[in-house]
Amino acid sequence: MISAQIQTASYLFASILFILSLGGLSSQTSAKRGVLYGIVGMAIAILSTVLGEGVEGQIYIVTAIAIASVIGILVARKVEMTNMPQLVAILHSFVGLAAVLVGFGSYLDPATHNIQGAEHTIHLVEVFIGVFIGAITFTGSIVAWGKLEGTIRSKPLLYPGRHLVNILLLIVCIVLCVMFTQMHGIDGMLYLYIMTAIACFIGVMLVMAIGGADMPVVVSMLNSYSGWAAAAAGFMLGNDLLIVTGALVGSSGAILSIIMCEAMNRSFFSVIFGGFGNAPAGAAREVTGEAVAILHDGVGQLLKDANSVVIVPGYGMAVAKAQYPVYEMVEKLKKDGKEVRFGIHPVAGRLPGHMNVLLAEANVPYDIVMEMDEINDDLSDTDVVLVIGANDIVNPSALDDPNSPIAGMPVLEVWNAKNVIVMKRSMATGYAGVQNPLFFKDNTQMLYGDAKDSVAKINAVL
Ligand code: NDP
Repeated sequence: MISAQIQTASYLFASILFILSLGGLSSQTSAKRGVLYGIVGMAIAILSTVLGEGVEGQIYIVTAIAIASVIGILVARKVEMTNMPQLVAILHSFVGLAAVLVGFGSYLDPATHNIQGAEHTIHLVEVFIGVFIGAITFTGSIVAWGKLEGTIRSKPLLYPGRHLVNILLLIVCIVLCVMFTQMHGIDGMLYLYIMTAIACFIGVMLVMAIGGADMPVVVSMLNSYSGWAAAAAGFMLGNDLLIVTGALVGSSGAILSIIMCEAMNRSFFSVIFGGFGNAPAGAAREVTGEAVAILHDGVGQLLKDANSVVIVPGYGMAVAKAQYPVYEMVEKLKKDGKEVRFGIHPVAGRLPGHMNVLLAEANVPYDIVMEMDEINDDLSDTDVVLVIGANDIVNPSALDDPNSPIAGMPVLEVWNAKNVIVMKRSMATGYAGVQNPLFFKDNTQMLYGDAKDSVAKINAVL
């Protein structure tokens, strides 16, 4: 057992480590250190909570933590890099569920029934808001998981009057909250149940209304919600560290969401309110034409003749694990005196920074990895662009079809280059489910097959 003073000091120390951890994660070179700070901070936080005054039944808590840790380690070891967003989404749902359960537990706890006056009202409002945010996070994250996993279709579910329905439900919840705070003991349980059901419904509808290409913002937004849910649980439990940690996750998730919205030219409020004002005015333009195929020898020859090459990787490169042969190809081309760079879209793959992680894994130097804005203007002077397993992020409809589901999203304008080679297995659409006119352009040729296989064959030609 540790004293309250030692616990407070440990909480303060853990909070500082969490802040240092977030700071470390902001750059690739300090990221590992950032993760380490986070691990040490969390270990201190758990230990000082479990050993704190008034905590009983440590053996049960430690057993539960041990079992959960084993499950966590097994799942994290097994999960493929391409399935990380699903794991993150489902973990957010656990935070939401935990906030709901803490809220119910705190309301039922007899120790809280003796609180009187304004303090009693504040406690009930904390419970109500905590359960409300937790329930939205819980069901919203499950729907996000389904959309990322492909078990729920990524097309947005837009029904007329949905914003009005959401606003009405919100008003009902506010009325329920007022009635709830008038109750004594556990007489307000029914109001809590009704609000939880409504919040679960709102969570489902908010995320169902968001289309495929906007999912990255949804994941970071749910990350933010899960932080606020944890902070609310911290208020209910009177735990300062949980409040600080929740606020850090909530605000950093919100900042990430804003950055991603800016990168994708989306309004932050439109995304958090479930696609408000996003519905296209008409049907998307039909994409037709004939795609021209090319073989590995042909691509090898084009590369031999080129002076400048830009590689645009996407989700397919991650699936095929093609980053290693891709780096081998880069080395070969650079040895021949060619300028080779990578063009990275902010939402390429299925995670923010997904492509940067893969390229770093294959030891690609950072100085040839360019952001979309840094490389777009250079593409017209580029001899060959190799699009490796990317689709939505190089779709010209985003710029020239206002009715396309991805309209307005900035993309890598690869079609301005002299030659474009698209490596994928078929003519299938990408995550947003929209056909890509790039494949039918005069300067585009398709190299069909698994990306790793294709790059290895090109390497053999080179
Ligand atoms: P896309 O999902 O648009 O396209 C990937 C393409 O890769 C597919 O068309 C597929 O075509 C091809 N592919 C799959 N497997 C292989 C393989 N083994 N070898 C070769 N090709 C393969 O990916 P992008 O990276 O272009 O765009 C990302 C999309 O994901 C965007 O819509 C983005 O909004 C969304 N998203 C991004 C998140 C993020 O944080 N980055 C999170 C959630 C969603 P084929 O089947 O024919 O091979």
